[in-house]
Formats: sequence, structure tokens, C-alpha cells
Amino acid sequence: MSSVYANYPPALSPEQQQFLVTETKDWAIQNGLAVRPAPTAYADPNRSLATNAPVTLFPSPFPKLCFEEAQALQTIYNQLYARITCNEEWLGKIIQELTDVDDFVANLWKTHLTVKEEGYVQSLSLGLYRSDYMAHVTSDAPPALKQVEFNTISSSFGGLSALVGKLHNHLISSTAGLPSYPPHPLLQSGTVPTNNTVETLAGGLATAHKAYGSSKSSPELPLCVLFIVQDGERNVFDQLALVKQLTEHHKIPVFRVTSNKILDQSSISTSNPSRPLVFTPAHSSSSAFEVTTVYLRAYYSPDEYTSSRDWEARRHLERSAAIKCPSVLNQLAGCKKIQQVLAEPTGPDHLSSFLKDIDPALISRLRDTFAPQYDISAAGQGRDLALNSKTAMDHVLKPQREGGGNNIYKSEIPEFLRTIPEADWKGWVLMELINPAGSAANVALRNDGEVLRGNVISELGIYGTILWDTKGDILHNDQGGWLLRTKGKEVNEGGVAAGFSSLDSPLLF
Ligand code: ADP
Ligand code: MG
Repeated sequence: MSSVYANYPPALSPEQQQFLVTETKDWAIQNGLAVRPAPTAYADPNRSLATNAPVTLFPSPFPKLCFEEAQALQTIYNQLYARITCNEEWLGKIIQELTDVDDFVANLWKTHLTVKEEGYVQSLSLGLYRSDYMAHVTSDAPPALKQVEFNTISSSFGGLSALVGKLHNHLISSTAGLPSYPPHPLLQSGTVPTNNTVETLAGGLATAHKAYGSSKSSPELPLCVLFIVQDGERNVFDQLALVKQLTEHHKIPVFRVTSNKILDQSSISTSNPSRPLVFTPAHSSSSAFEVTTVYLRAYYSPDEYTSSRDWEARRHLERSAAIKCPSVLNQLAGCKKIQQVLAEPTGPDHLSSFLKDIDPALISRLRDTFAPQYDISAAGQGRDLALNSKTAMDHVLKPQREGGGNNIYKSEIPEFLRTIPEADWKGWVLMELINPAGSAANVALRNDGEVLRGNVISELGIYGTILWDTKGDILHNDQGGWLLRTKGKEVNEGGVAAGFSSLDSPLLF
């Protein structure tokens, strides 16, 4: 492994680095590889500024076999999470163990139960997923693919990651006939794979839109897809890449609405038992569209639910006839606790039960992507590992949260656990740290123009999309596209939006 990374990336003179930085900044804005800056960063009262997304100047070496394995497993992972979502009894048993220690999970579960009591009117469900991995390195074996987590809600950066590969390929090929990078064998022999994330994710949304069928309103209304987004979202251009593909390629009307405006701009008629969700765009109050598919780029974090009105809006969407991406149950299936239960080495073989029709050899390859994970409740195996300051160093402690910044790492684990009531420990899972190759280096251009150089570790995400009905029939199951996020070796957390990582692309070797 180490020889692959030797002297990578090639050294840059100040002039060469300045050239790459300028080229990257300009290319990023010209092609939409952009984010809005943090509101505190600049005087921008009207929120009109945009800057390059944090991005590496070079692609990062990533083992080709691990990359291909992640792609090969994605549609099976899609099926696994669709089937978990269909098995309310299995899922509910695990979730109900969490409801007394986790208000957020409890409120999601309650939302499901309330809608269930009234009766769901939509049997289709859409998943746009991203399975995240690192290439785990040990001294005596080739790098192995290990899963960091599986995302079932708001899997982001598909729109921008497709552009990063294009940027790096542009820099590899040349600028004005001259090579942009100093020569390095990896840049000659490695390849940055093509990235069809936008086609895959928009394809999933378009399939759901079509499967919805005709309008259920009388008189019939034109149909649309609705993105639910966060107020003040900075990652807008990532979302707009999907909007563009849906409108221009699939010819589907798309609207984006902030979660705090859902109840103002959409309604469900009390007199129509089919409960179509009718949306009125703010800029055209005489227009009405029926929503076929609700795509959540919001609602994954408790701080987005500031009052009971937010929960009311979530329930409103859930009880509507629109296909949800994801449904509340599918969101809950993405809890870290579920991933820990699936990874349990002893006890019932959940994977084989959920994937009865899948070749056992493939199931075992899927199982090989699990890193050891432990329950730290009183009965759990992980308690000693978490409390012992020596073994804690090899672990990360995770709550049932998404979006970055929630985990507790290494030496802080024992101390943290002592600050919370023991009864709450069951809300957390302990996971062994994956050991990614850390001897690679890269140079990152942050979104404030700062340039950082250092040893890095990379996390690969593979996108998948699946449409199924509650009986378990799968109507569409697809994988395609990737995300590589790279961060300083010494940084525990990940996440581009959270400010820890930069967008990158894999240089497969
Ligand atoms: P979130 O839902 O907040 O994204 P993750 O499980 O992805 O939570 O953890 C956040 C970050 O922490 C990851 O992007 C990764 O950098 C790091 N991390 C999480 N689990 C592991 C692990 N088992 N080994 C190494 N790093 C990890
Ligand atoms: Mg993550």
C-alpha cells in the first residue's frame, strides 16, 4: 500500500499551487460546484453569494477492488433496507427500545403510529440511499471495504460529487494543452471513474413520479415532485443539479419548499379519501399541483423540529398520498442501532432472513463490510470496551442521529458515558474504528479560499435508489454514482456540510 502513495501528490511550486487554486476556483463557479457561504463568514444580508465547495486539488488514490465491491453490493443493500422498512414488527421492536431514551426517535415512531391508525393511503415508498465506506487497512491483507454507515434520508452531495470527478479529469487531461499537475505515475495509470449520481437519483425520483399514476384530485391537477428543504440551506446547488435533471431530462415539474412553509403552501382535502397532497407555489397563488413524490432534504435532525407545528407538518406529509422519500419508517430503518443489530456476530441471522432470495455468497460479502459494533446497554457486549480507557481508543460512540457532529470518539468515550444516566446508554452504539490508509496526502481548497495540505483519509459513498410497495414487491432497484469525501488524518468527524471534509474523487489503482 505505502508504495502507491509514495510522493503522492506530486510536490507543487508556489506558482503551480497558485495555478491549480485559481483554475479550481474558477472552474467550480463556472460549472456549479458551489455552495453558499456560512452567513457569518461575509456581509451577505441578502444571501446572494456563492463560493466553491470545499474540494481537493488532486483526486485521492482509492483501491479499485474496494470501489467495485461497494458498487456490486449496493442494490442488495437497497433491498435490505427496503425489506427492513416493510417489516414493521422487527423494526418496531428495536425502535421501541429507544423511545424512552430518545425523544426524536420517539416522535418519529409516534408519527408513524398516528398515520397507521388513520390508515396509510400510499403503499409505495422511495429510497435514495448512500452507503458510506472506508478502505480498511491491516498489515497483512489487501485493503478491505468497511461500511461507516448507511444513509436512508437526505443522502446529499450527489449533485456536486459528479462535478468533482469532472474537475479532476479536466486537471488530469490538461489545461490549454499543458498538464495542470506535475507528473506522477498514479496520475498517469489511475483513473477517475465516471459519475452518474445525478442520473441515478433523478431516475429514482422520476420512476416514483411515474408510478404514482394519474391525479387523484377532482378535477385533476397537474403533477409535480416536491423537495422539502431546510431554511437557510447552503448546499442548494447540489439540490438544483437534481432539479435540473428532473425538469430538463424527465420533463417533470419540481418545486422546492422550506419545511417551515409546508403547512402554508400545501393542503389535503378532508373530503377526498385518497388524500392527494396539493401544493401551491408561493409565487403563483392561483396555481395548484398535486405532489406525486416528497423528497426530504430536511427533517433528519431534531433541531429542525422547533415546535409541534413542525411535527404536524411531518405528519401531514406522511398521511398524504404522495410517495415519501423516505417514509418515517424508512428513516427509522437508517438508525445506527439497526446497523449494529444487523452486524451482531451471534444470535439470529437477520441478514439471511431479510435476503432469502439472495445468493449466500453475496450475503457473506455484504456481511464482510460490517465493522464490529456493540450494544452498550446493561446486557450489551460493548460496555467494557467503552468504559476501558485503553479499548475505548479503538472505538467511536454513535447516537441515533444524522448530519455529522454527534459522535463521541476514542478517549472521550468513558468520560462522556459517566456524564449521562446509565439508563440512557442504550440509545448509543459502540463501533470499532475502521483503519483507513492514512499515509496519503492531498491539498484542500476550503470554501473561504484557505489552502490546507496534509495526510488525509477518504470516505467513499455509493448511491442507490429503490422503489417498493408495502407488500415487499420491488418496482425499481438501481445503483450508480459515488461521493468521495476527504479529511485531515487527525480529524475524527466527517461531513462536508458540517465543515470537516472536502469533496474529492477516487483515483482508482
Ligand atoms: P453521521 O450520521 O453523523 O454522518 P457517521 O456514522 O457517518 O455519522 O460518522 C461521522 C464520521 O465519523 C464519518 O464520516 C467518519 O469520518 C467517522 N466515523 C464514523 N464511524 C467510523 C468508524 N467506524 N471508523 C472510522 N471513522 C468513523
Ligand atoms: Mg455519515
